[in-house]
Amino acid sequence: MSTTRKDSMTDLFVIGGGINGAGIARDAAGRGLSVTLAEMNDLASATSSASTKLFHGGLRYLEYFEVNLVRKALIEREVLLKAMPHISWPLRFVLPYHKDMRFENSTPTSKLLNTVMPWMKGRRPAWLIRLGLFMYDNLGGREILPGTKTVDLRKGPEGAPLKEKFAQAYEYSDCWIEDSRLTVLNARDAAERGAEVLTRTKVVSAARVDDHWEITTEDRDTGKTRTHHAKMLVNAGGPWVGDIIQTKIRINSKEGVRLVRGSHIVTKKLYDHDKCYFFQGEDGRIIFAIPYETDFTLIGTTDSEQEDPDKRPECTPEERDYLCAFASNYFEKPVTVDDVVWSYSGVRPLYDDGASSATAATRDYTLKVEDQGGAPVLNVFGGKITTYRKLAEGALDKIVPFFPGTKGHWTAGVPLPGGDFRVKEFDQLVEKLAGEYTFLTPFWARRLVRAYGLEAWDVLGGAKTELDLGDAFGATLTAREIEWLMDKEFAKTAEDVVWRRNKLGLRLSKDEIAKLDKWMSDKRHHTRKEAAE
Ligand SMILES: Cc1cc2nc3c(=O)[nH]c(=O)nc-3n(C[C@H](O)[C@H](O)[C@H](O)COP(=O)(O)OP(=O)(O)OC[C@H]3O[C@@H](n4cnc5c(N)ncnc54)[C@H](O)[C@@H]3O)c2cc1C
Repeated sequence: MSTTRKDSMTDLFVIGGGINGAGIARDAAGRGLSVTLAEMNDLASATSSASTKLFHGGLRYLEYFEVNLVRKALIEREVLLKAMPHISWPLRFVLPYHKDMRFENSTPTSKLLNTVMPWMKGRRPAWLIRLGLFMYDNLGGREILPGTKTVDLRKGPEGAPLKEKFAQAYEYSDCWIEDSRLTVLNARDAAERGAEVLTRTKVVSAARVDDHWEITTEDRDTGKTRTHHAKMLVNAGGPWVGDIIQTKIRINSKEGVRLVRGSHIVTKKLYDHDKCYFFQGEDGRIIFAIPYETDFTLIGTTDSEQEDPDKRPECTPEERDYLCAFASNYFEKPVTVDDVVWSYSGVRPLYDDGASSATAATRDYTLKVEDQGGAPVLNVFGGKITTYRKLAEGALDKIVPFFPGTKGHWTAGVPLPGGDFRVKEFDQLVEKLAGEYTFLTPFWARRLVRAYGLEAWDVLGGAKTELDLGDAFGATLTAREIEWLMDKEFAKTAEDVVWRRNKLGLRLSKDEIAKLDKWMSDKRHHTRKEAAE
């Protein structure tokens, strides 16, 4: 550690640059509060890049009677979709039905059915699925997304990759979301509304001094420390929320999180249509198989307890084999380890509600303000990507009383950067971009509009040929785009770019990624040198 810099007072200091920290920072900055956000690694480097990437109500939570959570999330799906039609899009889910599907035996619904219909022996009856889907269609006021329908799997493409025993399915709607881009765009919007966003900046301690907080951060690249002062602290540390309470801000709090690891595998594309599958297991669990990054299929997830947030979550061989075997129960052609090209794993920071199993623990969030010792701190427990905006609004409802005169709710319907167009205009935009920049391949044009929306034009600028975009790093990635990501989206390393700003890591070789990393490191060095002169 070397020099310590002292800063002036801000209203809010947010610990954690996952979706919840970034969402709260954006909402607060948009209301005129001064905000600093510190993230110890890259934005979305923990749970917020490792989700199944669905804006969904969570059909299976209905079996836990979590109707309020499901309703809140269902209403929110379309609010979010309209505000970010580049990074989010509607999906159809095909749920094949077979009589052997069973409940997880601890759900309230399975307990009730075991009492009133003991002869079902834990099987999930078709009428119950239809009832669940009826509620799913009607709880959340759909405008854009189509409702449920029945599918004959013996006809049509949905049944083609499946085993013959699956004859019937239900089809319903949810939405996709690029989770790590969502986080980055929230952080960027927060910065554009005045917030200071610090990445690779770890909060090492925070202490109450008189009526405010004194927070010490450490720059992970240089080791330099800095002291910040803030009237209020927000602990959005996700899996580290408990660690921050106990070892960084050292307050007494009875609340805690339960860490539940979930893993996914990515395989070569397993089938040829654009719908997803919702597979029910004989063990009561469910998994999804989702078309992913044009040429791949995403399969997940698992549920296992994880003790230590600092232990990097990884998809274990057992989890990988479990997912392959689960999917192989449905697909005619078995899914094998050889099909797996990548895997990832994340830790759900679930509010500890004392549930018996990881699958049963609530997915809803809890916000707790603690202001006994003078300056207040808001601790954020749990939450889903889908409810991040509502969570941020709820957080601000608790923050605003400490800052009288602050504006009210504003984020519903306000687009994220690049997202100011209508959901149905997406294909037209891809055509327009490809028409104006004739050197783009269809894959490239689509990728840019998905990532940047209307800002794809700003990324490409006045380029007339591919050469105008500078060095090419493979898989359509050019120096121009990297500069945009470094200037506007807080990217510092190749890993930030190829696994969180996009997923081109699936297409680039190790050597290509290393070359990109070197290029970015030289560029950062050059920029630092220029700033020092
Ligand atoms: C397998 C899996 C599948 C999921 N699928 C879905 C889904 O399909 N849909 C959905 O809606 N939700 C889903 N979720 C839930 C969702 O991903 C999480 O609820 C959400 O990402 C949590 O965000 P967060 O900001 O609270 O935590 P995180 O994203 O983990 O962010 C916390 C951040 O705090 C930082 N931090 C911690 N300590 C410090 C410190 N001392 N100083 C500075 N920074 C610090 C960390 O580096 C981290 O980046 C899924 C979760 C998992 C694990």
